[in-house]
Amino acid sequence: MTGTYDVIIVGAGAAGLMCAATAGYRGRRVLVLDHARKPARKILVAGGGRCNFTHLDSGPEHFLSENPRFCLSALQRYPPLAFLELVERYGIGYEEREPGRLFCRESSRPILDMLLTECRRAGVAIRAGTAVRGIHPREAGFAVATATETLHAESLVVATGGLAMPKAGASGFGYAVARQFGLGVRPTRPALVPLTLPPPLSDALGALAGISVPVRIRCGDAAFEEDLLLTHGSLSGPAALQASSYWDGAAPVSVDWLPGVAVRDELAELRARHPKAGLQRYLAGYLPRRLARELCRLDGWRGPLQGYSNTDLDATAARLQDWRLTPAGTAGYARAEVTAGGVDTGALSSKTMAAREVPGLFFVGEVVDVTGHLGGHNLQWAWASGVAAGRAA
Ligand SMILES: Cc1cc2nc3c(=O)[nH]c(=O)nc-3n(C[C@H](O)[C@H](O)[C@H](O)COP(=O)(O)OP(=O)(O)OC[C@H]3O[C@@H](n4cnc5c(N)ncnc54)[C@H](O)[C@@H]3O)c2cc1C
Repeated sequence: MTGTYDVIIVGAGAAGLMCAATAGYRGRRVLVLDHARKPARKILVAGGGRCNFTHLDSGPEHFLSENPRFCLSALQRYPPLAFLELVERYGIGYEEREPGRLFCRESSRPILDMLLTECRRAGVAIRAGTAVRGIHPREAGFAVATATETLHAESLVVATGGLAMPKAGASGFGYAVARQFGLGVRPTRPALVPLTLPPPLSDALGALAGISVPVRIRCGDAAFEEDLLLTHGSLSGPAALQASSYWDGAAPVSVDWLPGVAVRDELAELRARHPKAGLQRYLAGYLPRRLARELCRLDGWRGPLQGYSNTDLDATAARLQDWRLTPAGTAGYARAEVTAGGVDTGALSSKTMAAREVPGLFFVGEVVDVTGHLGGHNLQWAWASGVAAGRAA
């Protein structure tokens, strides 16, 4: 192996491997470097070990970014069905769990094996356990310094991901490279992350840890109907994770405990038919008994419904369907699935992921300011942006 390549890719994650195979099939001599001992650990843990590898309806409405339409070109040029075709070609078993969300049937491993096989067939060299110390521009291309040698390439692709899950190799390296070459970096924050609760709510709901209920959660202009999981000290599960991506660190989050239910009408009917029934009994028809009891305790809802005026019923129904709480914070990068923010899309070509002002420099995957909703969108972005750069680098 010589020290000169056409393309060096830093980061052997989902985006880096996809980019590598694409460039390799074009006949480019490609080297992938990763400081972790093994490539793409996040693929293995994704989707609880069954990798939610794409979402059939992936489009701009499922992404946060300073420019949400930036992702469109790459997603159109490499849509979810293109990745699915690859998965099917490799005979990997998959299932659609909820509309559009595709998971591996057995485990994530075959997805990683497929990418590594693609890289091998495309003649890509992968070096794990190799930290990149620095990048230096050259007249034509880049010098990439590792601990032991300096490598050279015409094109450099930064695929180092974000800051989420540091134990899987996450680092701020990509942002540092962007700044080094004069590209903007949008402020980063943990996203798809549990929301921590302030006391005494943390104790009250923490006592119900393990309970999961379907809710409608709102944060700013975003709303999601997903399951909310109560844990010790935090709100988790898909509902809280989705909301967390939109949380500004200060505003309340709103939970509708009974989504789609005409609560006001049902309470009035129950009061008329069973005046001695309490709110807890009503709630227990929809929610786990312990949660129903705790919600009544927290809000001081006691006594039979016959003691509730119409105004009380209005207020109670409104509260149940717009139960506001202000999180204490998030569980941080260690528990986050992704990083929001990142390399400014304004500095990149949406078609090729190339830095507009730095010939030969590309950014792909999570390091870019493109953050998907839960459901396979983040991996689809990794595949699509990786392919976009792989066709051009
Ligand atoms: C627990 C968990 C579950 C998830 N589940 C899903 C899911 O089911 N579906 C979905 O769509 N998304 C999921 N995601 C998000 C998804 O995994 C990421 O968005 C995606 O992996 C990002 O791909 P990437 O290639 O950009 O970055 P990464 O996969 O993070 O890869 C970056 C690589 O760069 C390497 N690297 C970093 N710094 C350096 C350096 N200085 N030198 C050399 N190498 C470096 C890292 O070791 C790593 O291998 C999940 C994330 C987590 C944490």
